[in-house]
Formats: sequence, C-alpha cells, structure tokens
Amino acid sequence: MTNTPNPKENCFSGACPTPGERNMNTIKLSEGSGGREMDLLIGHIRERLPKVTTWENITADGATFAFGGKHLVFTSDSYVVTPIFFPGGNIGKIAFCGTVNDLAVMGATPIGISLSLILEEGFSKEEFYQIIDTIATLSRETGIPVVTGDTKVVEKRGLDKIIINTSGIGIAERVCSEKLVPGDVVIVSGGIGEHGTALLAKRFSLEVTIETDSKPLHEELRAVGKYVKQAKDITRGGLSAILNEVATKNSVGMEIQEEEVPLHPQVRALTEILGIDAYSLACEGRFACVVSAENAESVLATLRTFNTTANKIGVVTGGSRVIVKTLYGKKILSTPSGNIVPRIC
Ligand code: MG
Repeated sequence: MTNTPNPKENCFSGACPTPGERNMNTIKLSEGSGGREMDLLIGHIRERLPKVTTWENITADGATFAFGGKHLVFTSDSYVVTPIFFPGGNIGKIAFCGTVNDLAVMGATPIGISLSLILEEGFSKEEFYQIIDTIATLSRETGIPVVTGDTKVVEKRGLDKIIINTSGIGIAERVCSEKLVPGDVVIVSGGIGEHGTALLAKRFSLEVTIETDSKPLHEELRAVGKYVKQAKDITRGGLSAILNEVATKNSVGMEIQEEEVPLHPQVRALTEILGIDAYSLACEGRFACVVSAENAESVLATLRTFNTTANKIGVVTGGSRVIVKTLYGKKILSTPSGNIVPRIC
C-alpha cells in the first residue's frame, strides 16, 4: 500500500482510505455516538490543534487551569437530542445538567454557564419557551446562573428544530484526578441507562413509565468529593465507554460484578426488546466514581441518601481490560462502536 496523498480522498486523518475503509472522507453518525469511532475522530482533531501546555486535563470532562492555589474548570457540550421532549425532561434540561455535571465530576463548583441556541425557522415558540423555562427553573433551583450566550436562526430544514450548546466554568479546590491503584472500588450513583430508555421509548412510541434520569449532580459530588479519586458522568456510550476510558487513561483494568450493576426492570426489558446493550446506553444524571477501598462504604452510604440504587459494582485491577463477571463466567466489556444510539443527548 502506498501512502501517496490523493487530494480527492483527503479524509480527516490525512490518510487515504483503503478499499476496506470506504466513506472515510465523510463524517459518519457513529463518529458522534460516544464510542470508538468518536474517540478516533477527537484524537485526529486534537492532533491538528496546537499542543496545550498551560491547561491540564484537556481530554477529561473539563479542562483545568491552576491559579492562586485553586483550579478553574472549563467545559462545553452540544445537544442534538431527538425527540426534544421525552418522559421527565426536554433538551433544555439535559443541556443545563450535562454541563453542570461535566464540571461537577472534575470536583468543581459550577459558577456560570453559557447558553447558545441554533433554531430552525418555523420552530414552535410555545415549545421553545417551554425549553427556556426548564433551563430557567434549573438555574433558579441550583443557583447556577446563565451568564452569556448566543442565538442563531437557520432556514427551515437547515436543522431539526433546535440545537443547544452550553459551556460552563467552575472552581475546584481539588481536581478529581488522583492515580488509581488495584483494589480501588468502582461505584455508580444509581441505575444506568434510564435516560436512554425513556428517550427510545418515546422515539418508538413504546409504553413505559420510566423517566429520564437527567439531573444536576453537583450536590452529590460535593457530598463525596473529598474521597473521590476520579469520577465521570455516564453519558453517550454508557457505562461501557466511561469505564474503558478511565481504565485506558490510568493503565489499569477493572473487574465488574454484573449482578451489582443497578438496572431498572424497564431498562432491562426495553434493551432486550430492542437488542441494545444496557451498558452502552446513556444516562444524564448518573456518574461512576473510583474511591479507595477504605472510603467505599462511607461514599456509598452518602450516595444512597441521594439515590437508593447507588452501588459498588467492582474493583480496579491490574492489566488493561474491563472484565464483567456474570453468573456464567467472565466477558470483556469493550468500548462500544458503531451507531450505538444516535442523537440521544
Ligand atoms: Mg462527561
């Protein structure tokens, strides 16, 4: 194979596609699904940007900037969910909570967020203000102000109703980026996959009573923050994606006990009906954290005051694989790939 560049096949990575790599010159849905393809795309973007030396944690949920003995934490996220209204919430709720949660898992107290809106000509004003009012209510309840933003409108069919981008800044006394060692305990803050299940049920007109788990997590993380070595909110790519990301970044393995992973019966039923892996399904109000074994019981007890389904699901091990121990044996939990569930957040 030759590496001679072909200007007609100038794919994002700069390499020419081989016959087995067709369509590399156009963006695929899977490159936004939170799995392996998205990780590769982000890697290619990062390679092309100037190297960052002044900020830390630039591939984490929020980048951190040390100043005056504290850390400024900065994050940004865009929301393209469909449908925009779903059981227990709407696009405005996940736009507010998602950014607050990315700050919270870094150990930060959120101090302000931005709200940028791209709207389709003809979008219902009633629905629009319902979304804005949801954000206003969350801002009032949490005391986290919306301090800047932007509004653009594009021609009809230029996009699907509404896209929201929120960025946020927070201040952390201590960033949750402590080294993980074998024996550390992995805890999830509640049942997984409930946002994905609620959304898919609405998308496919299935009758379920389950609602999105979307909520701001800053209070939960503030309550246990000093014991948390690392935390990640569980969003696109679900528990599979974030456990693999944490394991890879820290050069450790994990062993997860399947029966300890909290799963609402409706999540279990719907994922079986649709043939979706519950471990790859998004949450919008859950996080996984790693704590040392000696702090695990007290962290779990505190998290259960917020959510009774919080649970210890496994431990950090040597090696490099995330293994799930089931009743029938062990299996490898890989980073998901393909079109996991497009436009879920
Ligand atoms: Mg995140």
